[in-house]
Amino acid sequence: MQHPFQEFQEFVAEDYPLAPLTWFRIGGPAAYFAKPHTVENLRAVLRRAAEANIPVKMLGGGTNVLVRDQGTDALVVHMDSPFFSDVAIEGETITAGAAVPLTALISQAARAGLAGLEVLTGIPGTVGGALRGNAGSRQGAIGPFVGGVDVLDSSFEVQQRERDDLSFVDRESNLDEPVILSARFELTREEPEAVVRRMRKIWIVKKENQPYGHQSSGLMFKNPSPDISAGALIDQAGLKGTRHGGAEVSDRHANFVIAHPGAKAEDVLHLIDQIQQRVWQQFGYELELQLQVW
Ligand SMILES: Cc1cc2nc3c(=O)[nH]c(=O)nc-3n(C[C@H](O)[C@H](O)[C@H](O)COP(=O)(O)OP(=O)(O)OC[C@H]3O[C@@H](n4cnc5c(N)ncnc54)[C@H](O)[C@@H]3O)c2cc1C
Repeated sequence: MQHPFQEFQEFVAEDYPLAPLTWFRIGGPAAYFAKPHTVENLRAVLRRAAEANIPVKMLGGGTNVLVRDQGTDALVVHMDSPFFSDVAIEGETITAGAAVPLTALISQAARAGLAGLEVLTGIPGTVGGALRGNAGSRQGAIGPFVGGVDVLDSSFEVQQRERDDLSFVDRESNLDEPVILSARFELTREEPEAVVRRMRKIWIVKKENQPYGHQSSGLMFKNPSPDISAGALIDQAGLKGTRHGGAEVSDRHANFVIAHPGAKAEDVLHLIDQIQQRVWQQFGYELELQLQVW
């Protein structure tokens, strides 16, 4: 039987393994998987998915996604093509495609003597994922540097969302259109050496405190408030090092779960449950997932 995306077989596959595209490296396949090369490709598959009533999920760097063991019935769209990976610098403005890795954007800005984005040093993933979830840490978040964002709206038209129309609060943005295409960042001039020095400092601290050695890991929960850290609550609940199957609460930073070889998504979900229950019982905080579960 023909599948709904048959005519797009040049860039759409069926039953496609997602584990290698996520940082956890676990979980099942996508019923349909598209890697569009242009906005036209993208628009065509999104339109077909809407006609066939197939849900769509956008995948960036897969650093904030856990795919269930049974996989997903959705069409997963991965914008991992050079078309969505352009970076252009003009004066103090950088424009970057949604698929640009955050690390590449930060180092290009630093080399050009443009300061601001270095506060995001050490956060993995792409520009698209970072904008969706207002990626950031104690040093700052991506939101304040955004001058405008190009999106594909639910009618599959390209729209420009300007600064005044955007809101970035905690680990959330109001970018609720189906696709983020690119963004403009407004930065400030500074000596490249000074920016690189700050990047190095932030990287040293991050590397010491987070489980970067393990590729198969993920950040779990949002902080309940700016002064209360989810990691500290999990640590105080005595859960560091707790293991279920192949999943373990990191002993370096309790808000990370490590997926050891052979781990199942089910193991991670079990630990998430256990953490939420224990923190609720001991401290009365309902930890909300930052991780997207597909
Ligand atoms: C080791 C490690 C450290 C981390 N440290 C931090 C940290 O310090 N601060 C922090 O905020 N986060 C952190 N994270 C979480 C994660 O890196 C960020 O949330 C990151 O911004 C996600 O980007 P991504 O491209 O990987 O998105 P994905 O994980 O691929 O997707 C995340 C969400 O964004 C959506 N999305 C992705 N691309 C697009 C697009 N083009 N259009 C529309 N929607 C899109 C997806 O549908 C999904 O809902 C960490 C994760 C790990 C594994």
